[in-house]
Amino acid sequence: MPRFQHLRSLMVEEQLRGRGIRSEAVLEVMGSVPRERFLPPSQEHRAYHDQALPLSQGQTVSQPYMVAIMTEALRLRPSDRVLEIGTGSGYQTAVLSPLAAAVFSVERLPDLAREAEEVLADLGRQNVRVKVGDGTLGWPEEAPFDAILVTAGAPEVPEALRAQLSEDGGRLVIPVGDRMVQELVRVTRTGDECETEEILACRFVPLLGKEGWESSGP
Ligand code: SAH
Repeated sequence: MPRFQHLRSLMVEEQLRGRGIRSEAVLEVMGSVPRERFLPPSQEHRAYHDQALPLSQGQTVSQPYMVAIMTEALRLRPSDRVLEIGTGSGYQTAVLSPLAAAVFSVERLPDLAREAEEVLADLGRQNVRVKVGDGTLGWPEEAPFDAILVTAGAPEVPEALRAQLSEDGGRLVIPVGDRMVQELVRVTRTGDECETEEILACRFVPLLGKEGWESSGP
């Protein structure tokens, strides 16, 4: 068995199943997406370590366990249209794509967006679109979405994202808190009502933008 494949299986058993990830669909996808492909060459040897890893421009590739928790929390169905904010490396995008009908992903840094797009295309992910822009405003032309995932920490739930959730049980998973520590929450929309559940404490790079943090803030 190739080395990375072996390490990936261990990651799924020890870091994910062993810590309570139950969705077989999520476990299966995470057992097949090559995380090493989304990392800078200097980080490849750490691809299946139990940690977030540095990407270029001060950004990070999320820890596998966090990717699994967030993906599971979205409760995806194969017919779902998904919006992701914070493409970064594209690793999370690659995990979402086999579990949904279409994934729309927004990244504010053009270089990261382009690199992620290239790897995703290389892996044959045809149901993914990546756009450069301020994801706190969502992707209004493609709304509504059955599920929205934000992979950067927000001061509060951006109103534009809430508005772009499907009225019929749309789910938004987002880290909300200060610039250092956040709580991962799931907002479920039914009509004009939103229910919010707390999932776990977490630490993400800041969501910068009109309905996020200011670039030069504290
Ligand atoms: N899911 C990614 C996480 C990347 S870190 C991965 O696992 O690789 C968070 C990303 O959010 C960064 O790439 C950052 O540039 C991006 N980001 C921050 N604010 C944003 C905004 N308003 N719109 C779109 N992307 C944003």
